[in-house]
Amino acid sequence: TRTPVNVTVTGAAGQIGYALLFRIASGHLLGADVPVKLRLLEIPQGLKAAEGTAMELDDCAFPLLKGIDITDDPNVGFAGANVALLVGARPRTKGMERGDLLSANGGIFKPQGKAINDNAADDIKVLVVGNPANTNALIAQAAAPDVPAERFTAMTRLDHNRAISQLAAKTGAAVSDIKRLTIWGNHSATQYPDIFHAEIAGKNAAETVNDEAWLADTFIPTVAKRGAAIIEARGASSAASAANAAIDHVHTWVNGTAEGDWTSMGIPSDGSYGVPEGLISSFPVTTKDGRYEIVQGLDINEFSRARIDASVKELAEERDAVRGLGLI
Ligand code: NDP
Repeated sequence: TRTPVNVTVTGAAGQIGYALLFRIASGHLLGADVPVKLRLLEIPQGLKAAEGTAMELDDCAFPLLKGIDITDDPNVGFAGANVALLVGARPRTKGMERGDLLSANGGIFKPQGKAINDNAADDIKVLVVGNPANTNALIAQAAAPDVPAERFTAMTRLDHNRAISQLAAKTGAAVSDIKRLTIWGNHSATQYPDIFHAEIAGKNAAETVNDEAWLADTFIPTVAKRGAAIIEARGASSAASAANAAIDHVHTWVNGTAEGDWTSMGIPSDGSYGVPEGLISSFPVTTKDGRYEIVQGLDINEFSRARIDASVKELAEERDAVRGLGLI
């Protein structure tokens, strides 16, 4: 029998946490034959709700779920963690300046990074979901000097999945026929969903669509503003699809991309495609045996270059702001 994998989820009592935990426990995160132990990390006000969720997890009698711990202490929450999903974050509230948002999140992600550094398992893999995800991941990574930087990642998989869905709807293709789509840059309004290297049933997606105005004026803004459209329609945020994307991100990281395809992950840049080294930016990546590699050698046209550069500029500004605040 396999040793259970320790999976820590922060903000476990929130909306995304509620949509995420049951799927982790049922085997969707790592595989249908991988037992898991859950650690739910919450702030003190969230502990009681987390206990309620744990009661429901118990009531599912999941065969793979080998234990649940609940804590508000990051050192306990990340002890022996193999996978950490950092979901809890400080939301932007009315009138809040970017600096306030970044420092509030620095107060969360810096201690969590240190606790990961000091307590997590050697093979720790971190996914940051809580926004601003790329910069929160950078803060946590900078506070964990003993953990290889590449283990800190930020989620752009929801954007990736949204882009596939929009492209499928536009072309009448099946989502499973769409490959090699890329999200570049920041998980924010400046993100760039790139279909110039994507394929639809083996044919180039941009050539198939052949409509640059649709790309610029419909596709890109629809993908980037999808979260707001869902809040408008549901009256609540896109928690289930965000949780699903977190599952996809980790599952792909651990289990690999399909031959001939790639995915999008926010990862520390190695300088590829002109993205300054160290920025946590989304790239096209292939994964294998629990490791990822940036897809190299893609030809970046002018349309793409301008949009990648704009998103990367925003990431550099966020990095400079958190540096100015002493958070990295
Ligand atoms: P959610 O579970 O809905 O969201 C959590 C975070 O995920 C937010 O930062 C949110 O960003 C982000 N997010 C990323 N992608 C999406 C998406 N597609 N749709 C919606 N959100 C997305 O928030 P709740 O308020 O329900 O729950 C947060 C929980 O975290 C609370 O229980 C709170 O107590 C806890 N918390 C725990 C901390 C800790 O463990 N130390 C620290 C802070 C909070 P955005 O704000 O942009 O919507």
